[in-house]
Amino acid sequence: RTFLDRIAKLKHLNAFLEVYEEEALNKAQELDNRLAKGGKLGALAGVVVGIKDVICYKGHNVSAASRMLEGFNSIFSATAIERLLAEDAIIIGNLNCDEFAMGSTNENSAYGPTLNALDITRVPGGSSGGSAVAVQANLCHVSLGSDTGGSVRQPADFCGIIGLKPTYGRISRHGLIAYASSFDQIGIFGRDIADVAAVLQVIAGPDEFDSTASQHPVPDYLANLALENNKSLKFAYLRDAQYHDGLDAEMRGAYIDFFEKLVDNGHTVTGHSFEYIDHIVPAYYVLTTAEASSNLSRYDGVKFGHRTREQNLDLTDFYKKSRSEGFGIEVKRRILLGTFVLSAGYYDAYYTKAQQVRRLVADKLNEILEEYDAILMPTVPSTAFKLGEKTDDPIAMYLADIYTVLANLVGVPAISVPLQKHSNGMPYGVQIITKKFSEESLLRIARLLM
Ligand code: GLN
Repeated sequence: RTFLDRIAKLKHLNAFLEVYEEEALNKAQELDNRLAKGGKLGALAGVVVGIKDVICYKGHNVSAASRMLEGFNSIFSATAIERLLAEDAIIIGNLNCDEFAMGSTNENSAYGPTLNALDITRVPGGSSGGSAVAVQANLCHVSLGSDTGGSVRQPADFCGIIGLKPTYGRISRHGLIAYASSFDQIGIFGRDIADVAAVLQVIAGPDEFDSTASQHPVPDYLANLALENNKSLKFAYLRDAQYHDGLDAEMRGAYIDFFEKLVDNGHTVTGHSFEYIDHIVPAYYVLTTAEASSNLSRYDGVKFGHRTREQNLDLTDFYKKSRSEGFGIEVKRRILLGTFVLSAGYYDAYYTKAQQVRRLVADKLNEILEEYDAILMPTVPSTAFKLGEKTDDPIAMYLADIYTVLANLVGVPAISVPLQKHSNGMPYGVQIITKKFSEESLLRIARLLM
């Protein structure tokens, strides 16, 4: 009830696309009754969760914030949703985002932008902007987003909360609408590390419906979080990232102060060169648009998605018209870019080259991660943009993804936790990256640094 009332009161933030009021109240009542009868409750009993509008929930609409899927009703639930429900979580509604998870501001939604609750003239970040604001504004306990190149960590940073992107394959992608399949991963927003750990515990693990979901055992994240962590940790930072000209000068100073404080507390912090830094955004946008152009070919007006009402078209024009009407401008831009880099004659120059860059970057990053407990980095080079500030300049928007796309290119887990407030009043965070499948220590380090 408290959350439902707040959602209604803060409707202008445009975080929720739909609120499952009756269903959520019924579930709460059912849990209450069960408790009164001494029945058994699941691990997430009473935990109120919001879900990004790219995650399928049986019998509920899912649109990827696109006209293309307006009114589309899921015929099955994502594995992550099944697991939340099995542990008695209460799903309260679905959350606004950039269309097909493509964007960094939530301004690409067909349903209008979500507003940052700390300053409504600013964006919440994206693409999981609604999921971030729902937690930031206390409209639910935790929320799910998806992170292909930063869509959980970046809005968490802009909103002053925690955002976790687990290892690629840690959480099943079954029922997550695909953007770029070799990058996509469901992520978790929370205000507290233990909440994030509790949700990860439930939704992580192998899944017969997703062959890329790892068989790697799921440790007890919560129990491990409680262990005392008093050993001195070895941190690395990437000099080429930390001294990149794109980074806000005040923030750069604050990160350096933060590193010095860690050293004062008995940890080591070592600067490492990382010469690939300027190649990661181009490699990310070549590869993800290539995968997107293929993934989004299913929305053809026949099998899925919006169908044009225009009559007497031949098949090619029917596809063209349906897709032109259904997709927004950023999605079209990416489909065109992806189709171009995959086309005969350009494939080797762009797609193959970007795959090679991905391999080099992964080898180098994994090598550094072998030597240290964690890498520390900014999450975003600036605080939250003003609404409209970057909409006319897609390249500038893409370049702001410089610190987040790295973890997705390599498949390693990364988390953004709040660090402090900028003199402009907006919060920003620090990003922590660890080895694949080391969420256990990632969460512990995150808690230590908060
Ligand atoms: N901002 C990035 C992009 O637009 C990340 C998106 C995401 O992680 N879904 O591709």
